Amino acid sequence: MTSTPNKVQLSSWPTPLEPQPRLAKALGLNAGDLWIKRDDLTGLAGGGNKIRKLEYTCADALRQGATTLVTVGAAQSNHARLTAAAAARLGLDVVLVLAGHPPVEYTGNIALNGLLGARLNWAGDVDDHALEARAREEVAALAQAGITAALIPFGGSNRIAAFGYVDCGEEIKIQASDFKHLFTAIGSGGTMAGLVYALGAERIHGVDAGAVNDPEQRVRGLLSEMSEQDYIESLSIRRDQVGAGYSHLTEAVEEALDLVATHAGIILDPIYTGRAFAGLIAAVREGSIQAGEKTIFLHSGGLPGFFGNPDILRYTQKS
Ligand SMILES: *Cc1c(COP(=O)(O)O)cnc(C)c1O
Repeated sequence: MTSTPNKVQLSSWPTPLEPQPRLAKALGLNAGDLWIKRDDLTGLAGGGNKIRKLEYTCADALRQGATTLVTVGAAQSNHARLTAAAAARLGLDVVLVLAGHPPVEYTGNIALNGLLGARLNWAGDVDDHALEARAREEVAALAQAGITAALIPFGGSNRIAAFGYVDCGEEIKIQASDFKHLFTAIGSGGTMAGLVYALGAERIHGVDAGAVNDPEQRVRGLLSEMSEQDYIESLSIRRDQVGAGYSHLTEAVEEALDLVATHAGIILDPIYTGRAFAGLIAAVREGSIQAGEKTIFLHSGGLPGFFGNPDILRYTQKS
């Protein structure tokens, strides 16, 4: 087994694991069956799962002597916003290379990026490869100017970052070692990879949010790098909640957001946690989660994205 990389502390741990009896009953489960792991409550700038990964990638950047962080993302990337927050906390400069064009109105994550002091580099209509290439150009340009910059990858996920979710798995071993199912969204894959590494593959169910072409290959690739051998266990990944694409709002996601808001007072985001909870609802309806089986839902954050999504804001005006 490889050694655990170094980290800096960016939040207070552990995050709470909260029982959700009303929500459990609304789903037809027993009151004690459903728990939410509150990784939306991670210290910085609106919170979310990227903080655990940044504890490792920022430690690595500091070790390399970096004074600037560069990362990439979609316009409403939660990862980009939290990288900006981590940089502010650590006294580093930050450049966010974002897909698309400067918006007319700064909403959601984009508004927070500005407040956090990030420099935004709008890459235009580019695919993932071109976006990362643009970020490498940014790092090279900074190096020309004598500035050491560290490139944090798409979604903040690489081998060392995934150890942030090994830490989460270790917390869950103490908080609820007897759980039967855990549901998480998958974007760049580091969150699921870390949880599987810590807790085994059998109980961890990933729900694809549509951010990458092959989520299984991503998660498996990270697990293979972490354990330094081909990861061959089968992984539980649902891809039925993506709908018409990454930023598309589906009816199943609307139902998930409604149900969790009205039975837990907790807001999910329309891209990641909304899809993950829609996957959990589907699993209950299919009978693959049954009453009496302790089920954890990982709330991985994303609230600022809610305020940057015109479709969900329109949806809330329904009543
Ligand atoms: C990025 C993100 C995810 C997905 O995490 P990955 O480690 O990239 O798979 C889930 N939920 C939210 C809110 C996110 O921002």
